[in-house]
Amino acid sequence: MRKRLVIGNWKMHGCLVENEKLLDSIVAGLDGLPANQFAVCVPYPYLPSVQNTLKNTNVSWGAQNVSQYEKGAYTGEVSVSMLNDFGCTYVIVGHSERRALYGEDNDIVAEKYMAAQRAGLIPILCVGETLEQRDEEITEQIIQEQLMAVINKAGVGSLSKAVIAYEPVWAIGTGKTATPEQAQEVHVFIRSSVGMQGNNIAKELTILYGGSVKANNASELFAMPDIDGGLIGGASLAASDFVAICNALSN
Ligand code: PEP
Repeated sequence: MRKRLVIGNWKMHGCLVENEKLLDSIVAGLDGLPANQFAVCVPYPYLPSVQNTLKNTNVSWGAQNVSQYEKGAYTGEVSVSMLNDFGCTYVIVGHSERRALYGEDNDIVAEKYMAAQRAGLIPILCVGETLEQRDEEITEQIIQEQLMAVINKAGVGSLSKAVIAYEPVWAIGTGKTATPEQAQEVHVFIRSSVGMQGNNIAKELTILYGGSVKANNASELFAMPDIDGGLIGGASLAASDFVAICNALSN
């Protein structure tokens, strides 16, 4: 059985007081639901307080980025062992905002992915095309390149300890969601591309959809056979929305 997941990506939002309220409501709203299905990826400074609030709950936590280096003169960076110090389960790598705004190319993303795995963290590898690339009909080529950069370096077997998030760039934070059919089509492509390298790995691979998932569209997306849950940006900042999306996964 493939693992199903809903993971919130808070991006650069939050403050101590608001986070506490948000997490208290999320924990209360998810009470009684299964463990290991829900998580939030939060800004670094909040990891200690998030750890404190979420330990002994059914909500895990993680970070939104990590250095590919273990330690050293990398001012402003955060290492995998630092994330381990705060009990992180997940770390997002290759989010399109990091690729577009911070020059993270496929090689750097692959190095971050491997650094995360070496430390026992589960990388959430984001892949996805821009609107221009979709219009040029090179979506599959772009995603194949993003996937193969990781598989070539880390091996297909590494995906048994990773999660992939398909996030069409044109759908992130725009309110434009891919239709369930559009998302399913790319998820099938991802699964079959991985399947060419390792069939069993592909069958068990958790592939999340991300891009303007909301309480009112989560159920139809999660009902698609190859969509195993979601990576949620904006809607993870409102407890009622996030809880409704998590419930859509469980139903
Ligand atoms: C994201 O940041 O990964 C994301 C999917 O954002 P949103 O849900 O706001 O589109």
